[in-house]
Amino acid sequence: MHVEVRGLNKAFGSFQAVKDVGFSVAKGQLIGLLGPSGGGKTSILRMLAGLETPDSGDIVFHGQRVNDLPPQERGIGFVFQNYALFKHMTVSENIAFGLEVKKWNKAKIKERVASLTELTGLKGFESRYPHQLSGGQRQRVAFARALAPEPQLLLLDEPFAAIDAKIRHELRSWLREMIDRLGITSIFVTHDQDEAIEVADEIMIINKGNLEQKGSPWEIYKDPKTPFVAGFIGESRIVDNIAELRGFSDPAATSGTKGLIRPEYIEIGRKEEFAQLLSATEAGRVSHIHFRGSEWLVEVEVNGIKLVTYRSLEKEVLHPGDEVQVLVHRAYLFNDIQSWVMENK
Ligand code: ATP
Repeated sequence: MHVEVRGLNKAFGSFQAVKDVGFSVAKGQLIGLLGPSGGGKTSILRMLAGLETPDSGDIVFHGQRVNDLPPQERGIGFVFQNYALFKHMTVSENIAFGLEVKKWNKAKIKERVASLTELTGLKGFESRYPHQLSGGQRQRVAFARALAPEPQLLLLDEPFAAIDAKIRHELRSWLREMIDRLGITSIFVTHDQDEAIEVADEIMIINKGNLEQKGSPWEIYKDPKTPFVAGFIGESRIVDNIAELRGFSDPAATSGTKGLIRPEYIEIGRKEEFAQLLSATEAGRVSHIHFRGSEWLVEVEVNGIKLVTYRSLEKEVLHPGDEVQVLVHRAYLFNDIQSWVMENK
């Protein structure tokens, strides 16, 4: 189902939770609503579901304005963070619940439940109760239950937040696979950027009620439109006055221009590691190191500016206090009016 949202606003009392948000989602796409807590992600999802009424704006599903339709008539499935399974019902009964409400006939319900337990890997668990399942299994039941009435749009609110890290990882790729297989348009809320990057076709960055940017994970990463987006995606440090860094004292970067520098924009090492690039480097000192499993995260101080970068495990191990050379290849610059990317000259 194609989804179109225009000029959506929602206030709670005097607090404007969602501000003039508009976007469209193509059929079969998986969209991640990403942003800090309290930004308005859940409110947007609940308005799509019909669980919350917008103050203004249009919600259009498949060419039809659905603002006045109750949730059960919108053709949506909803998966909540806390599973929201019926505790006194078995897996099969949970999955069948919505179909019984819709008065499907018994044989058709049985067939649908069988195909969904198969699809979601819950075969053999049909008679178990929620408390006899793991968190990941429960969430798969919630997913199957949401899919049972054959919705055209699937809405998921922090679906993996309550699940431990390893299983969460598995469930993410599982969800991606399911959605590809079913071709169902899906929108999920998360505050976890790795999750959004890994799973979504497109990400919408939501902050303080605003849609800051919408695009593929790669577009958002490489071409952030606002300082907030630049800082929210990827690990990075903001430098208050980029002109203090060698190679960035271009007239374009006037005094006071802020710069955002990502770890992969930086190389550090001993003088001899740089050869002819040495003249573009600056002297710095390692202030902190952290082993990340597959590489080091190194914090380095240059002219009183703290930057972070990665260092591969094959290279000489650095220690706090070590004198190093630092080469900043590029920075994402912004002042009050504009933003741009600048290369080290
Ligand atoms: P989280 O990840 O914490 O759920 P979110 O981005 O999903 O955050 P929302 O849940 O949409 O954000 O909330 C946006 C703002 O609106 C918050 O400040 C919240 O306190 C407020 N809010 C949400 N629902 C209501 C409500 N029913 N009554 C009053 N304020 C509300």
